[in-house]
Amino acid sequence: MLVVMHNHATPEDIDRVVKTIEEMGYTARPMPGGTRTTVGLIGNDGRVDGSRVEALPGVAEVIHVSKPYKQVSREWREENTVVTIAPGVSFGTSEIVLIAGPCSVESEEQIVDAARAVRAAGATALRGGAFKPRSSPYSFQGLGKRGLEFLALARQETGLPVVTEALDEEGAHLVAEYADCIQIGARNMQNYSLLRAVGKMRKPVLLKRGMAATITDLLMSAEYILAEGNDQVILCERGIRSFDTMTRNLFDLTAIPIVQRLSHLPMIADPSHGTGLRDKVIPMARAAVAAGADGIIVEVHPTPDRALSDGGQSLYPDQFARLVTELRAIGTAIGRSLATPAGTAATVGV
Ligand code: PEP
Ligand code: MN
Repeated sequence: MLVVMHNHATPEDIDRVVKTIEEMGYTARPMPGGTRTTVGLIGNDGRVDGSRVEALPGVAEVIHVSKPYKQVSREWREENTVVTIAPGVSFGTSEIVLIAGPCSVESEEQIVDAARAVRAAGATALRGGAFKPRSSPYSFQGLGKRGLEFLALARQETGLPVVTEALDEEGAHLVAEYADCIQIGARNMQNYSLLRAVGKMRKPVLLKRGMAATITDLLMSAEYILAEGNDQVILCERGIRSFDTMTRNLFDLTAIPIVQRLSHLPMIADPSHGTGLRDKVIPMARAAVAAGADGIIVEVHPTPDRALSDGGQSLYPDQFARLVTELRAIGTAIGRSLATPAGTAATVGV
């Protein structure tokens, strides 16, 4: 339930609404807006009788949120939530954010080279896994803390903020110390204790759609993070399992406009895991931007043939550079532009 206050409501009126909600056994979350304050009621599972609150002075209207993912829904908040991971790098504005880098951090040289290359091409943020969720326990599992240190070094070299995955709660605290945004991967989308843990942190979270998750499942998982008080959540389409073996996953582009209609959170897309095939990444990245994605996360490796993970879907740096030029043109056609990191000249780290 949302309690919309009149624009002339006094702080005492708002206080009274908060106290009443608390007396009813729920939690109140006041949200000051440009012209008026809204007080959200959380902690309920089902419809709440709003008559007690409705009658209070200063209350303009009581809105019942029909969606189960209520804080995530556009009913709860009409305007886009802007998620800022570093100065000048914000998701949910007219700017499109490009996150690029290798699947895994493999060495200091590899991640710094990758960061320089994607920065030169026009990327706005750096990706690279230090903790890798692999199908086989015998595959490369990532460099762990050392990988995080290399990422921090690459950020220092290029000015690019860092997005990297956490696999568990302990790892999330470590990742939060080094990264600008914590990625929760497809396999962990429904790891509710991990979602709660990152919800308690004050770090932006990139939440990827699970490979067998519906769009509603994705939004419900995001609700876990917002329910703990962290609304800095970026959602990501990365492909879902299908019966067709032509591609690694079925890249569900429709999820982009659907999520943007249902939620105020930014929505980006990952055409690398979405397709699993280098030559399919480029057309699907173009398509995702055309479909309205607030950003793209794409795997780029200085030497994909030698990559320790996902080499076959990683772009060569020059392919990525061409893609950025194309995305810029597509963005212009739909009234958007590509984000550039603040305070870093175009030549930094090149
Ligand atoms: C990744 O981004 O490296 C990754 C493992 O992605 P996903 O969780 O989407 O499979
Ligand atoms: Mn990967």
